[in-house]
Amino acid sequence: MKPPTSTELIHHPYTPPEGFQAPQPGVFKASTVLFPNVAALRARNWKEKTGYTYGLHGTPTTFTLEERLATLEGGRQALLTPSGLAAIALVDFALLKTSDEVLIPDNAYGPNKELARHELAAFGIAHRFYDPLIDAEALKAMIGERTRLLWLEAPGSVTMEFPDLSGLVRAARECGVITVLDNTWGAGLAFRPFDLCGDGSLGVDISVQALTKYPSGGGDVLMGSVTTVDEALHLKLKFAHMRQGWGVGANDVEAVLRSLPTLPLRYAAHDEAARELARWCQKQPEIVQVLHPALPGSPGHEHWRRHCRSAAGLFSVVFDPALGWARVDAFVDTLRLFRIGYSWGGPMSLAVPYDIAGAMRAQTHGVRGPLVRFSVGLEAVSDLIGDLEQALRTLR
Ligand SMILES: *Cc1c(COP(=O)(O)O)cnc(C)c1O
Repeated sequence: MKPPTSTELIHHPYTPPEGFQAPQPGVFKASTVLFPNVAALRARNWKEKTGYTYGLHGTPTTFTLEERLATLEGGRQALLTPSGLAAIALVDFALLKTSDEVLIPDNAYGPNKELARHELAAFGIAHRFYDPLIDAEALKAMIGERTRLLWLEAPGSVTMEFPDLSGLVRAARECGVITVLDNTWGAGLAFRPFDLCGDGSLGVDISVQALTKYPSGGGDVLMGSVTTVDEALHLKLKFAHMRQGWGVGANDVEAVLRSLPTLPLRYAAHDEAARELARWCQKQPEIVQVLHPALPGSPGHEHWRRHCRSAAGLFSVVFDPALGWARVDAFVDTLRLFRIGYSWGGPMSLAVPYDIAGAMRAQTHGVRGPLVRFSVGLEAVSDLIGDLEQALRTLR
């Protein structure tokens, strides 16, 4: 018998029966998408989710995640990007042009500010950083002729100031400035980004998430999303997304789809554990400040209370400056369950020291001592308290 040719293997006559159904939507992988004939190829419209043209423009797998994310955030359309930072870059490069200005809160995700300082500046796009606790009137006074885009983060993920989100969004809207929220902390659960007042009257224009964090939930996927309610704004972002080639891998999308149903349960567990640990930290003499927006006294707590139903699993502590960095570093090194590493949203608790004075404008948050940011995972809370306790002993 002759061995089969490659042609026989590529153009094999078998096709599996149609109608397969399983709880998970399936991993469809493609660059090439096949058309039954030339007329079908000519008729396809890549902008609509009514068909398929090319892997970069969407597959059943990516469309499914986009639709579920739009539902999660209370939006109408979503786009996927290969990381949270790529989602930030997509918004900037889709909406800003030379001589425009973007406003970014001082406590924003660091690389968002770095992008403005370097690539945006090189394209002649101006930026200013603002105090995250600015009030609406002061923001209006900052907005100028060239101001086109306002970034918001609620709260900043290291110093944890929660802004007057609805006040700032209303002020920006009155001035004709597009609002974009980095909603990684809220994850679509702590508050409704497109319905900030609960009566449908006010929302951000765009919500960006690092799906890398809570939606993925495993610390093993990088992905971002850009969600909107306005069709024209979505199309503007979608064209830029297509022209910039922001593709995502089907296996990564499938990992997020698998984690998404447990997101509300995990988020609630992270929230409860973080609040318990934060309150415990408030009682420790070496810690002079606990930054968690749900704790009275934390910067912007009153704004958190007005906007939010819950909180994420993040908080920061500020150590007595008299201890110095060397002893605080030793504290972090002594932790056993809290591991040292960036990012958050996975089952494993993490700790990262941040030198705030060097990284941000210190006057906006009053952080004076060494700061350690904790991302609380899903371990037993009593074990995590025990871990903090044994490491604090090294400071005594
Ligand atoms: C992690 C993070 C990002 C970036 O996400 P990546 O997927 O790591 O690029 C953006 N914003 C916030 C608030 C984040 O925590």
